[in-house]
Amino acid sequence: MVVFVMIDGLRPDAIDAANCTTLRALMSRGASTMTAQSVMPSVTLPCHTSIFHSVPPSRHGITTNYYIPMARPLPGLVEVARTAGKKSAFVHNWEPLRDLNRPEQLVYSWYHEPPLAPNYDDEMHAEAVRVITNRRYDFVFVYYGSVDTAGHAYGWMEPGYLQQCKHVDTLLGQLVAAMPADTHCIVQADHGGHDRNHGTDCAEDMTIPWIAFGPKIKPNYTVTRRVSLLDTAPNLAHMLGIAPHEEWEGSVVTEMYMDA
Ligand SMILES: [Zn+2]
Repeated sequence: MVVFVMIDGLRPDAIDAANCTTLRALMSRGASTMTAQSVMPSVTLPCHTSIFHSVPPSRHGITTNYYIPMARPLPGLVEVARTAGKKSAFVHNWEPLRDLNRPEQLVYSWYHEPPLAPNYDDEMHAEAVRVITNRRYDFVFVYYGSVDTAGHAYGWMEPGYLQQCKHVDTLLGQLVAAMPADTHCIVQADHGGHDRNHGTDCAEDMTIPWIAFGPKIKPNYTVTRRVSLLDTAPNLAHMLGIAPHEEWEGSVVTEMYMDA
């Protein structure tokens, strides 16, 4: 199984500031970089479209959180996985993510509007644990939205934001515990944030944590090359044992794999 975990709006420096023990343990268990780069604009839907299609917003044309069809469409990770006979599932609590895949590509999708409260992610998380425990899918995407929401409400790196980082870190520990031993996983953010917003090209918005672990990933390894969120889909495809699409612009981070 391959699992992709998104913690929307998680800044790398929040991992220590909020004492995120799960994330620190995953960094020891696998390979990571705390200086991975988002794309411009550093906004959730443009970022996610870039993550799943491995091209920048200048290519796919989605530059706001309001979905429009891609300027020059290309297959994303889920379409490439489907063509290869893999079953993909999405579990999320931000509705616009429904447009990340073309119709009839996912075999399972779960969404429910969350409450604006510290338990924002809890219902989605319970479903994600259930889906991973059932082990019926080759690829599972799990999206935690509450850290970003706390950033907008309290300000990035403020106590209310860090408290939410710590809460999601605890949930992440439960999610990882539910994963089969042979799972490969990437955990990352889509963008950071500053004050009560994000979307600019400043370092606080653009710098994201990026962590990969699994049986084929080197333990306790710091990635030396520059990683961008365009590299996520090629690596998830590689973990699924399928070739990246020829139009994807990101690349496999070969240095972090055991056979490198
Ligand atoms: Zn976001």
